[in-house]
Amino acid sequence: MPEKNSLLRLEITDVNNLGYGVGHANGKAVFVAGAADGDLCTVRIIKNAADYAVGRVEELLSPSPYRTENDCPARGCGGCAYRHVSYPHELELKRNRVVSAFRKAGLSLPVWPVLHTGKIEGYRNKAQYPVAPGKNGPVIGFFAPRSHRVVEAVNCPLLPPVFGQIAETVRKHALHFGIPAYDETSGRGILRHIYLRAAAEEKELLLTLVTTSLDYPHARELTEMLTARFPSLVGILLNENRENTNVILGKRYRLLAGRDHLRDRLCGIDLRITPASFYQVNHDATELLYRTAAEEAALTGNEALLDLYCGIGSIGLSMASRVRELFGIEIIESAVACARKNAEENGIRHARFATGDAAGTARILEEAGGFSPDVIVLDPPRRGADAETLNTVLSLAPEKLIYISCNPDTLARDMAFLLPRGYTAARAIPVDLFPRTGHVESVVCLTRK
Ligand code: SAH
Repeated sequence: MPEKNSLLRLEITDVNNLGYGVGHANGKAVFVAGAADGDLCTVRIIKNAADYAVGRVEELLSPSPYRTENDCPARGCGGCAYRHVSYPHELELKRNRVVSAFRKAGLSLPVWPVLHTGKIEGYRNKAQYPVAPGKNGPVIGFFAPRSHRVVEAVNCPLLPPVFGQIAETVRKHALHFGIPAYDETSGRGILRHIYLRAAAEEKELLLTLVTTSLDYPHARELTEMLTARFPSLVGILLNENRENTNVILGKRYRLLAGRDHLRDRLCGIDLRITPASFYQVNHDATELLYRTAAEEAALTGNEALLDLYCGIGSIGLSMASRVRELFGIEIIESAVACARKNAEENGIRHARFATGDAAGTARILEEAGGFSPDVIVLDPPRRGADAETLNTVLSLAPEKLIYISCNPDTLARDMAFLLPRGYTAARAIPVDLFPRTGHVESVVCLTRK
């Protein structure tokens, strides 16, 4: 129970971070695409696995008060989870997600209402459009969820409209000159991805074409056409990727026009961002996140601040005016090079950066001549920090640890490790950097007992 193909009257009680409505039948979770909590519906069971079932709405008996019209022209890309519920309700669902992650980890930390900027469309400053061969030349779009089928769609409502225009120009150029899209199955073709990044308010744009060769046909015609049409385009690059892989970027770049990086201003700091560097995708919400982190850290100007997983240095540099000394550690070399340049270009002299694995922090600091942090900011990728990193962080015994996380589950796991080892935390503050999608960011300040 419930049997496959059977019909079921189901009350939806939650929406998970993949956008599925969740109900329960005989104690088993039933996931229903497009359903919202508060819906009462008749559902047909289309899959019955050992510990869950999947259903499809046959009839909506009574709609949820949280429902809204999903008006996305690119439906089916799977990038959004909450387009069918109101934004205020999405914020509640996101807060619940953080609450339940902590509860599952055995923690009862108060979770604040989700902070947000109110901007829920056109906020993304980055797009990586896959290109695939189609009947009439290259097709640009998104990979359908859990597949490698490209859904044709350049105009995602979360992106600035200029991205779609640039991508369309690249496509037309490829079509005109007969440049084939990369075919995943045969490994043939040239154009793989159109990768775009934008500074705040699209003041600057950077285009990287991921291709199987750094010798892109008719590159000159393309750059001339693009720079004439899009004056904010500050650089056009090629990135070579010949591997049969899901990883988008390869290692080698070639600059076709302009410069190899974007410049953006974040929390009063001018940043340079190369295509390979991590940069938060939502400018305004990132400022809100970093300001919240700084408030939680309550810096006095006397602290030695260690920024772990520092990327291009954005968090540490945004706090630099409120600390005595700054040290950043990051594994991607080109990001560290950006961080150093960023410090220099902003006249920040009390900052140092090192390339390396966060797990080796104690050794890296020793080799750098010693650095004893009062405050550590940790901003790891989705998988969270590994045990080695957490242990090395504990061995440095900072007064405060500011954990910034894009994944409530690994955040809760790492909190459950850190809190019993001499730290307390008053609250978790979620910040919505990714409206309409299933992702949510959080900040927790841990203080040494
Ligand atoms: N704090 C930065 C970047 C956060 S994203 C910002 O706000 O922009 C996480 C960063 O961790 C990425 O730059 C990634 O390259 C880096 N990273 C991933 N694994 C790492 C590791 N084991 N050691 C150090 N840095 C790592």
